[in-house]
Amino acid sequence: MTQKKIVIIGGGIVGLCTAYYLNKEGHEVTVVDKGQLKSGASFVNAGYLTPSHIIPLAAPGMISKGFRWMFKASSPFYIQPRLDKDLIQWGLKFMKSCTPTHVQQSMQAILTINLLSKQLFLEMQKQPEFDFHLETKGLLMAYKTSQAEKEEAEVAVQAKELGLKIDQLGPEEVLQKQPLAPMNIAGAYWYESDAHSTPEVFMKNIIGVLKNAGVNFILENEVTHFTTQGRTVKSVGTAQEALELDELVIASGAWSESLLKSLGIRLSVQAGKGYRINVSQPTGITIPSILLEAKVAVTPMQGFTRFGGTMELSGINHHINTKRVAAIAKAASDYYPHTSITSEERTQAQCGLRPLSPDGLPFIGRPSAYNNLVLATGHSMMGWSLGPATGKLVAELISNQQTSMPIDPFSPERNYGV
Ligand SMILES: Cc1cc2nc3c(=O)[nH]c(=O)nc-3n(C[C@H](O)[C@H](O)[C@H](O)COP(=O)(O)OP(=O)(O)OC[C@H]3O[C@@H](n4cnc5c(N)ncnc54)[C@H](O)[C@@H]3O)c2cc1C
Repeated sequence: MTQKKIVIIGGGIVGLCTAYYLNKEGHEVTVVDKGQLKSGASFVNAGYLTPSHIIPLAAPGMISKGFRWMFKASSPFYIQPRLDKDLIQWGLKFMKSCTPTHVQQSMQAILTINLLSKQLFLEMQKQPEFDFHLETKGLLMAYKTSQAEKEEAEVAVQAKELGLKIDQLGPEEVLQKQPLAPMNIAGAYWYESDAHSTPEVFMKNIIGVLKNAGVNFILENEVTHFTTQGRTVKSVGTAQEALELDELVIASGAWSESLLKSLGIRLSVQAGKGYRINVSQPTGITIPSILLEAKVAVTPMQGFTRFGGTMELSGINHHINTKRVAAIAKAASDYYPHTSITSEERTQAQCGLRPLSPDGLPFIGRPSAYNNLVLATGHSMMGWSLGPATGKLVAELISNQQTSMPIDPFSPERNYGV
């Protein structure tokens, strides 16, 4: 196989996993990032590997929920109303995608790529060069109200039909699983399929693995322009230098839409801001849970417990909205009466931007405008889970191998509203 010179823009989970599989194939890989690889969505996320998340973000009911929550500062889903052409176009595609047909057509692809990615995470964990936290204890979908129980029951029926193992547990059974952290809930659905990890531990580990394997990192350098010749991208440019390449991978997360405009490609990606609070005092929490009414994700990580949530479409910014952080902290003590989050822990909350595609599926594939460009972005709420599978699929595309699964559902040029 011919060794290619490959530039990857973006050193989040998607870019780094892509670098890992391309390096294993023997290519010469350079990762360029405008940051230092110490913060952002790939560091603040809830660390879930999510075969359970078979329903895409764009689903029936989301539009009415979105409108209901739109004007409430502490709501878990918020769109800041503004006259932004890209947001309006994204919103129209999102609305078109909120159909039962879209959900039905997407579920199998979402499950297959999640299962592939979980297997790849587990394979990495066995490699001697890796040493990161990953546990397979499943995920509790915990509810207080009959409405949330009913909505989750509908998802559970479909997930079971696709082959997942799910048990409905009463509060006492949940307490038996997790005796040191009593929950104030009516019950939970337990998805055996899911796993969890500590993102910053994995990120540090894979950066070290890649450096040792000879992957080149150019950090604190923003890619601002490209040179092209016909249908070929020849180089990417930062303020400091131009990097020549045979193949280009764009894994630039929430920034992908604006970056791709300089290549004449239109791809709808909005930033979906989410927050995390780390709690280092012991909480007794040993099983990850989604607190369904509050839409808060709780993860027992290596050395601390993480509470994360909210989906805020307010453009590209890292402004911390203290009302949303307070809402996450309140949910923590509402569901776990023995847990309270200190004001210091709230002050240290961080946020990250999920790269939201309009239909909730990632973009993985080659756009027709160029013959040496691959897009790997738009992973929305599943980017952590799907990092390894995306990296593997991109490496297979670039190495002209058959892909491990069909990637048509993830085509950057797919239609919305089918
Ligand atoms: C609170 C929260 C909880 C979450 N929980 C989960 C979860 O439990 N499970 C899950 O699967 N997903 C979860 N997610 C989503 C997941 O974190 C994201 O989908 C994922 O991190 C996206 O990874 P990425 O590599 O595509 O983007 P990013 O991590 O954002 O990386 C993109 C990189 O590109 C760089 N970049 C952008 N433009 C340029 C440029 N022009 N030049 C150079 N560099 C550039 C940026 O600096 C950035 O480092 C969560 C997200 C949040 C915010």
